[in-house]
Parts: sequence; structure tokens; C-alpha cells
Amino acid sequence: MRQRFAPSPTGLLHIGHVYSAVTAWRAAQTARGEFLLRIEDIDQPRCKPEFEQAIFDDLRWLGLSWPEPVMRQSERMPAYGQALGRLVDMGLCYPCRCTRKDISSALSAPQERQEPAYGPDGPVYPGTCSKRPMSGKADGDAVRLSMTLAIARLGGTSEVEKLCYVETGSGTDETLFLSTDSLLTGCGDIVLARRDIGTSYHLAVVVDDAAQDITHVTRGRDVAPATPIHRLLQALLGLPTPVYHHHRLIRDAAGKRLAKRDDARAVRSYRQAGMSPAEVLALVGL
Ligand code: GLU
Repeated sequence: MRQRFAPSPTGLLHIGHVYSAVTAWRAAQTARGEFLLRIEDIDQPRCKPEFEQAIFDDLRWLGLSWPEPVMRQSERMPAYGQALGRLVDMGLCYPCRCTRKDISSALSAPQERQEPAYGPDGPVYPGTCSKRPMSGKADGDAVRLSMTLAIARLGGTSEVEKLCYVETGSGTDETLFLSTDSLLTGCGDIVLARRDIGTSYHLAVVVDDAAQDITHVTRGRDVAPATPIHRLLQALLGLPTPVYHHHRLIRDAAGKRLAKRDDARAVRSYRQAGMSPAEVLALVGL
């Protein structure tokens, strides 16, 4: 078994990350498998070297180790470009010039009577650019996956619904099932390549999990809605699918999900307050 922890260096690690990392680490230890660290830094302007260093330091302080050098997504753009090229060649993509503002005004147009649906990436794309051919792609355009064409390519609803059944690696976590209908209306035409960075979280994570032979993914339930998208992309690209384990979320005292800016819950703050690694782990019930 090969597990991974894949943080983005856009802030300090908080105890929610600790729960993911240590759960993955322990599962790998128990199975005499491997634990890898991957730095998800495609969003370069938001990533900072000092946060990357803090990730290494805090995880080591907690007693984790991993093979070096670690994979950094910012060094993997050619691999993402190749995967994107394959999906484009299959005829499943279109260029999109819509800004966030264009999307929200299209969704609030009077003819759109329904409340917009929200997917893992925000409001579901209304399809404004869906008829544009890839040959008309301009430099500043993003690239989207046509969910309708992707489902058809994989053999239609019944075949895709088999993929959408997301196994979890532990009896304590619920199994997730998403229908093709929820892929279409709840995720929609997701971005494969952002205008600014030429790839997206979904594409990069799928390409990298396969490149690193990851067999088990341990992630929070907040990322669970993205997992069917990842299974779909794996099927389209002919990549293996890991077992997914979506663990409970660590919340703050008010019951809210922890955010990166919640420095009070950062491992760094607990360290500075003199707590031991075991005491920090005890905070999240580990
Ligand atoms: N970089 C993502 C995060 O920090 C990883 C989520 C995942 O794919 O497990 O939330």
C-alpha cells in the first residue's frame, strides 16, 4: 500500500491536516506500506517557501518521515499538459473565456429560474462557452471538460454509475455514491486547465496519484465531492483508481471547519505554546 499526504503550502498546517497526515501515515505503517509527501503548489502566487518549510518541520516534529525528494506539482506541468492533450484529443474539452463575474451574472440572469447549484469548485458552470471548438482557444482561455461527452465516452450512465460508487477504506466512514445526474448537475463542466496556471487541482491530483502509484488516498470529507470527478478522470485517462478513505472533519470550538488562516489551530502555535507531539495528536483524538 502507498499512502500520501498532499498539502498546499498556502498557510500553516493546522490540526485538521494533522488528522489526515497521521491517519495516512499510521495506515501505511500498519500495512508495512509507504507514506509519501507531495507538495501541491500549482497555485504559485498563493504558495510560499516558508509555508513549505513549515510543513516539513511540523510533520517531522510529529514523528513522520517520507522518501526524498518529494514530488512538487509546480515541477510537473509537462505531465499535466500531456494528460490534458489526451482529453482534448478525445474531443471532450472546450475553451472557456468566462470570468467568475461572467459566470455569476449568467447564473443570476432572469431566465435562470432555479437557484444555482454549487459543486466542489463553486457554482456549477452554466455552459456559456460549451459550443466553442478547441481550435478557437485563445491564450487567456481556460479549458473545461464536457461532463456530458465524458459520460458518453465512458459508455453512458450505467457504466459511469459503477465508477461513482466510492469505496472507503474504513468501516467508520460512510460510502459515497454520486449518480451521473449529480456529476452533471452538481459538478458540471469542471475546469481542467485554469487560464492562469494551465492545469487544475482535479487534473494534477489524478495524474500525480497515478505517477506515484498511490493505492490509498486518505482525505477529509470536505474533499469527498471531488472524488467522483477524480474517478471519472482516471477512467478517461486509463489510470488506476486508489481506495478512498474520507475521514471526519476536525472542527473548531464553534463547530466550523478549520481554515488555513485559523492560526490558533496551527501546529506551529501549539508547538510555541510548549505542547508535545503526543498532546497535539490527542487534540484530534489520535
Ligand atoms: N492539496 C489538497 C488539499 O490540501 C489535497 C486534497 C487531496 O487530494 O487529498 O486540500
